[in-house]
Amino acid sequence: MHRGIAASPGIVIGKAFVLSQEDFCVKKRKVPDEDIEQEIARFQEALNITKQELISIRDKVNSRLGTKHASIFEAYLLVLEDPMLVGETIDRVKKEKINIEYAFNQTIAKFVNVFTTMGDEYLRERGRDIQDLGKRVLHILLGEKKQALTNLKQEAIIVANDLTPSDTVQMREEKILGFVTNMGGKTSHTAIMAQSLGIPAIVGLKDITTKIQSGDRVILDGYEGIVIINPTQATLDEYERRNKKYQEIQKQLHKLKDLPAITMDGREVELSANIEIPDEVEMVQRQGAKGIGLFRTEFIFLNRSDLPSEEEQTRIYRGIAKKMSPYSVIMRTVDLGGDKLIEQLGTTTETNPFLGLRAIRLCLKYPEMFKTQLRAILQASTSGNLKIMYPMISTVEEVRKANHILEGVKEDLKREHIDFDTHIEIGAMIETPSAALTADVIAKEVDFMSIGTNDLIQYSLAVDRGNEKVAYLYEPLHPAILRQIKHVTEAGHREGKWVGMCGEMAGEPELTLILLGMGLDEFSMGSGSIPKVKKIIRGSTMNQAKEMVNTILELPTVEAIRKFIKQNKVDIGE
Ligand code: PEP
Ligand code: MG
Repeated sequence: MHRGIAASPGIVIGKAFVLSQEDFCVKKRKVPDEDIEQEIARFQEALNITKQELISIRDKVNSRLGTKHASIFEAYLLVLEDPMLVGETIDRVKKEKINIEYAFNQTIAKFVNVFTTMGDEYLRERGRDIQDLGKRVLHILLGEKKQALTNLKQEAIIVANDLTPSDTVQMREEKILGFVTNMGGKTSHTAIMAQSLGIPAIVGLKDITTKIQSGDRVILDGYEGIVIINPTQATLDEYERRNKKYQEIQKQLHKLKDLPAITMDGREVELSANIEIPDEVEMVQRQGAKGIGLFRTEFIFLNRSDLPSEEEQTRIYRGIAKKMSPYSVIMRTVDLGGDKLIEQLGTTTETNPFLGLRAIRLCLKYPEMFKTQLRAILQASTSGNLKIMYPMISTVEEVRKANHILEGVKEDLKREHIDFDTHIEIGAMIETPSAALTADVIAKEVDFMSIGTNDLIQYSLAVDRGNEKVAYLYEPLHPAILRQIKHVTEAGHREGKWVGMCGEMAGEPELTLILLGMGLDEFSMGSGSIPKVKKIIRGSTMNQAKEMVNTILELPTVEAIRKFIKQNKVDIGE
């Protein structure tokens, strides 16, 4: 039995399919004299294909974002034709009579080493560019598409070192029962995506790829974070039984679907859903969500080589607005960067991507992309009830700048006689400690705030949300987090603004009473959690919740808080 981090609930039993590590394994091969020219020709062809790819990306970036942003691709193209790089590789092949991919890999490694050990940050960055470029060419030489999750012959449980959110999003159409990975954390976007797609998953299993072989029979228990390899019949029977029990609980909870989330003493809050892809709307409605509290729009930008156009975005946003009407949909403007990287912008690799050019920072740096999205949201706003929310705010100036751009976009639309909701609400995500501590200032600039605890925890406690090695420190109940939530809620209310939460904490049934007691107005979560959270709210009173908060805020440690919560747990029949 192997224990990891339960990332997405559900029990599945099936055959394993182990994905190989993403890194290249470039083997050395001797090449006979008569084949040397052929090796060199393969190289020239790979360089040509890479060149065409880069030109095509450059042109797209050029037309969407301007020449400034396309210049990185010019630099890539120059490196690709660099006589030293090309010449040295060909010389190696001729002299050492070896295969081209090995020779090229050696040359690249040498160049990267020279650049990345230089004192100058600019030159170090160029070293990383050369590395990226090298990978592109090697992909072609090795004929290796990133090992595909597509084309699985039969239903399987994927076993991988790590999966990116864009890998995960591809899974919905494939025969994938669930996945387990060595790396990852509970609130990584890969885990969140798995929940949205209803794919059971366990992450942070450290070395599971060395324990499971393709074809092994595996039980994946996404509730408890347990993997069992080649189980006995008795264990299989036990898991079938547990599965039935969980399904029965779900059936009971489903009866609450159309009832309001109201406490026994009459405080009603809004339970809404987080979504990543438009197809999730039906699921959200089945769970009785009263709106979408977070639409992670950046997923529309992943797994493609261009940026989505204004028309495409308008069509998608309009579709969701219509389907959810009269309930509201909070359109979070793109939160790219961090673990959701796109090639289209040509941004270079960062040493600390979660602390780098991410979310609103990226949007303010690429205003044309931002404006296109705002235009699309505004146009779609006539078809339902849309709100706009900015991610990863860390200073009030960012809100002001974003609002300024938004005002400009509204003016443009008016000039063009294009209709939009002129009273559209604007919100800020509070997911950095600096935003939380200045929530009173930020609240003045917006209509609402929504607390993104996934990042707030990561940034407050200095714990990478996707790193299994420090997952034990990723603690929602840390007094520093609870105090910030209380502070933000009170600051918002003092300014007459509503305050929601769209981080994973909002969907944790053990925390529902505390968040209720702190005064949250809206809870937005993976839609699967809505029925349980609703059941707790309907079985509680505000007095009870407030008292709990008063006690908890006095407690000094996570351990004491956890114990108190356990003792005061609301029974929901599990
Ligand atoms: C959060 O950080 O809590 C949040 C909801 O945003 P995301 O998980 O997409 O970073
Ligand atoms: Mg976030």
